[in-house]
Amino acid sequence: MKALQLVAQGQPGTFKLNNLPDPQPGPGEVVVRVRACGLNHLDLWLESAGLPIPVPLPRTPGGEVAGEISLVGDEVAGWKPGDRVAAQSNLFCGECEFCRRGDESICIKGELLGVSRNGGFAENVVVPARALVKLPSGLDFNTSAALTLAGSTAMHMLTNRTQVTPGDWVLVMGGASGVGSAAIQIAKQLGARVISTGSTESKRHLARQLGAQAVVDSTVDDWPAEVRQLTGKRGVDLVIEHIGGDVFTKCFDCLARGGTIVTCGATAGREVRLNLWPLFVKQQRLIGSYGRTRADIQATLDWAAIGKINPVIDSTYPLADAPAAFAKLRSRSVLGKILILPN
Ligand SMILES: [Zn+2]
Repeated sequence: MKALQLVAQGQPGTFKLNNLPDPQPGPGEVVVRVRACGLNHLDLWLESAGLPIPVPLPRTPGGEVAGEISLVGDEVAGWKPGDRVAAQSNLFCGECEFCRRGDESICIKGELLGVSRNGGFAENVVVPARALVKLPSGLDFNTSAALTLAGSTAMHMLTNRTQVTPGDWVLVMGGASGVGSAAIQIAKQLGARVISTGSTESKRHLARQLGAQAVVDSTVDDWPAEVRQLTGKRGVDLVIEHIGGDVFTKCFDCLARGGTIVTCGATAGREVRLNLWPLFVKQQRLIGSYGRTRADIQATLDWAAIGKINPVIDSTYPLADAPAAFAKLRSRSVLGKILILPN
């Protein structure tokens, strides 16, 4: 099979499109013929050695897999060749304290598909059967691959790590990103009044199209002042944050008394200065969110199947052009998701 392998990390990294032996499933595993696989910032971190874990090379990236099962290993029940599936990229043991209570993304033995083991930028990928989610009938592979990781991350933030009450003000950072474009739609469906941010007019236009009632220009230094003005100086109840750095700090200037910031990423910087005074005086909450559960994926795909959430697909690339897709995502000029189509 053809597989895109990262052979040297860097910015850009060095990739090779190689012919490898077809993979075989071990006990409890299946082989998925990949029909589409979303590209994410996680892949850029892998490429540039930006993850705080060592990664043996060569490695095939790609965690946002949609495809059909082609082979089923021993000890797999309930799945057969031809089943249309998505994969939970936060691989989990299913047995530890955290898995048993339903928090599979913080599994003590957790691994990342496409980082700790080879991912979906290949014609075939081996996945533990316990990580599979069945695609709703009628849902196409591109839609699944555009929502399985980023979209369900937003679902996890808005319905698992926090809750939204109808009428709440929700600020979605980076509304044109994979997480942001899904978060706007999910928050809107939950009855929220959504404000978003964007660094270009085309990104702000997309965020408005997706349902944000106001979108502020994040290149203006005091953009939080506009958010406060939009909410009658009150501030927002919830911030969906994934950018980090100075942006994260400014989110506190947008937050109402009793409000919550939930963060799932830090593409602009992981170390920030935090003033604890307003955090406790205003009884605010800061919540971490990592990955998703299979229930979040199922909910996201079910919503997509009935049109409650739509994928935003910037572009698709054949496997051979995947390095160009990495460069495009790094350029920060992407509206929604980039997909790699190996088959
Ligand atoms: Zn576990």
